[in-house]
Amino acid sequence: MTLKFTERVGRVEPSATLAISNLASELEADGVDIVDLSVGEPDFPTPENVVEAGKAALDAGHTGYTPSDGIPELKEAIVEKLAADGLDYGTDELIVTPGAKQALYETFQTLIDDGDEVVLLDPAWVSYEAMAKLAGGSLSRVDLSETDFQLEPALDDLAETVSDDTELLVINSPSNPSGAVFTDAALEGVRDLAVDHDITVISDEIYDAITYGTKQTSLGSLDGMADRTVTINGFSKAYSMTGWRLGYLAAPEPLVEQAGKLHSHSVSCAVNFVQHAGIEALRNTDETVAEMRDAFEDRRDMLVDLFDEQEIDVPVPDGAFYMMLPVDDDDQSWCEGAIEEAHVATVPGSAFGTPGYARLSYAASEERLQVAVERLADAGYL
Ligand code: PMP
Repeated sequence: MTLKFTERVGRVEPSATLAISNLASELEADGVDIVDLSVGEPDFPTPENVVEAGKAALDAGHTGYTPSDGIPELKEAIVEKLAADGLDYGTDELIVTPGAKQALYETFQTLIDDGDEVVLLDPAWVSYEAMAKLAGGSLSRVDLSETDFQLEPALDDLAETVSDDTELLVINSPSNPSGAVFTDAALEGVRDLAVDHDITVISDEIYDAITYGTKQTSLGSLDGMADRTVTINGFSKAYSMTGWRLGYLAAPEPLVEQAGKLHSHSVSCAVNFVQHAGIEALRNTDETVAEMRDAFEDRRDMLVDLFDEQEIDVPVPDGAFYMMLPVDDDDQSWCEGAIEEAHVATVPGSAFGTPGYARLSYAASEERLQVAVERLADAGYL
């Protein structure tokens, strides 16, 4: 029989990183040693006390459904975390989700109708575009590649792009893929535009624990933003818990009520024992998180120096664990060549709306990062 698919699912393509990871797998199957800098997850284990809390929750029989929006103790811990960020959310303004991705998906589905304008800042994490398209949104984009990925000097461009017709703006700071942390002045600029044009803003703060010498301001803490911000966060990056699938959205109660319908009819709830582990992650991991952040900072410094030795000026990221390396205009071919000839896997910038760059993840040991730069240099890719 011929399967017939929806027009909706036809709007999106498989992730552009797929070609690279397929190539990497093929080469690895042939016994080639690949330095994989294409991954979007920390290379540290989940903190031991969090693993123990998960096991204890299993042993205690926390294996059934939970309330759809999450267990009360975890929601309390999230409210405390958000309060520490200057965000005033109550437990009825939260949905605990299986990963921040699900929180974002529910937000797009709740806010975007066919033809609604969604504004992204490029480079933008790959799934925003897919989620906007699946919801029927039409995309407008602001290019930050001319301003070293910083938003503050591009506020005029943003002002020209948004209008009263804009429904949703997505802010992600620290950014995947650029590692940029937006300044307070940039966020204030966003606030002014959002208020002027009555725009809802998603603030994806999933990398907020990973910043170097600077601190990320939560957009929703700015005057005028509480009732128009959807704050997204999760446990994957800060606590190295990608496979546990735990995240959340915090938003005004009416939005949470609507998104909660999607949530309960799709995933029902986040995994029960994982939510218990999440409480431990929020309350008792300050030291481990600081160690991971320090390691990322050392690696960032090392990579910036190594590229500097190669006379390559890389915009220095202040957060997350990615950097954008300027490469050929045809970044897809550069990345394919780099993996085939230098055996280093990276992601083409065009996957994030910014051709001419390759995204490097430094969730790898200093030794492997050194090997990667050497191999790229030796193979003529730098
Ligand atoms: N937002 C950004 C910017 C991300 O990079 C990621 C993970 N790559 C997510 C959200 C989703 O994370 P998770 O679903 O693992 O919580």
